[in-house]
Amino acid sequence: MYDVDEIRREFPILDRRIGDKRLVYLDNAATSQKPRRVLDALTKYYERHNANIHRGVHRLAEEATAAYEESRAKVARFLGAPGTTGLVFTRGTTESINLVAYAWGRKNLREGDEVLLTEVEHHSNLVPWQLAAQATGARLRFVPIREDGTLDMEEAGRLIGPKTKLVGCIHASNVLATINPVVKLARMAREAGALMLVDGAQSAPHLPVDVEALGCDFFACSGHKMLGPTGVGVLWGRPEILEEMDPFLGGGEMIREVRLDHSTYNDLPYKFEAGTMNIAQAVGLGAAVDYLGELGMENVREHERRLGEYAYGRLSELEGIEIYGPKEERTGLVSFSLPDVHPHDLSQLLDEEGIAIRSGHHCAQPLMRRLGVPATARASFYLYNVEEEVDRLVEALARAREFFRPYAI
Ligand code: PLP
Repeated sequence: MYDVDEIRREFPILDRRIGDKRLVYLDNAATSQKPRRVLDALTKYYERHNANIHRGVHRLAEEATAAYEESRAKVARFLGAPGTTGLVFTRGTTESINLVAYAWGRKNLREGDEVLLTEVEHHSNLVPWQLAAQATGARLRFVPIREDGTLDMEEAGRLIGPKTKLVGCIHASNVLATINPVVKLARMAREAGALMLVDGAQSAPHLPVDVEALGCDFFACSGHKMLGPTGVGVLWGRPEILEEMDPFLGGGEMIREVRLDHSTYNDLPYKFEAGTMNIAQAVGLGAAVDYLGELGMENVREHERRLGEYAYGRLSELEGIEIYGPKEERTGLVSFSLPDVHPHDLSQLLDEEGIAIRSGHHCAQPLMRRLGVPATARASFYLYNVEEEVDRLVEALARAREFFRPYAI
């Protein structure tokens, strides 16, 4: 049974008060809060096992290596990866995508090739490809969105062709709450002989994910958005593709043999893990996916789907509100604008009531331009949020509306 009260007790920060108000944390798309067992895993690692991994033969080095590799296996299982060979630890989604754009893009893209992205990409899945395109002469193309924020798949069909070398798409939008048809895109990419990269920063924390079922070649996500610590994330790639790629960062641990003028490289996944990794954080991520697995991602999804639907309904009651994205098939976040109130002023006013929401361009400036707004306000929910928090948000927004009414132009 999904017992949200019991779940909330696992998160010490949810007891915090901001002034005299209990914290309402609705900025989960930016980063999630951490359950006690993740905090405990970090403390235990540093108190009992801390050492550098893979190199030492002493007890602590062996324990630290075992904990790190155990985490890799847990995360691989959580993402439905067929094994650990293609499971590379990175700092997060941004680094994972940069890794692909450099190590695969620089080697495989040529003038005349195309990388197909979408209008809804986070800057993390856009800027690395701009850099790769500049370096190689490849061209970036973009699947547009329809009025409701869903991808125009007919146009995608026209855009994917023999020149397409890679299709990259966010699985779930951090602005529109859309769940993109990445399985279909992956199939279209495969038929055209292109690779498929899925930015799973907003899906892995919230939906059941199975990289094999998605049919993608690369999948990226961030530990800190899925109950884990900051500083650790994942790139899963098909081993046969990773094998052919050049290294991304050079240094210790990613090598097999080093001569003064050249080197050979380590096996996967170590070839892409240069230098000392964020070991404790990776161990913490293992504890996070253990917990997510215990709760069941189907249950997490259902809880957030219901809460998102409730929030959509309650927010719609506010006069003049604009909610972005489709009405149905949403993840648990809501981006919106209120007339005559700048989203920044709004989030500042809400902060005084202990309510944390996000305002801004959400690292999706091209999408903001497409929507015709400089910024939106965004309330994003997670597995521990409850309807009363939505009610507090809506009541605070109604008060903010009244506060700003005299200043309306
Ligand atoms: N992609 C999407 C869709 C995101 O929402 C985010 C973070 O907000 C990122 C990528 C970047 O994640 P990180 O900053 O953890 O690398």
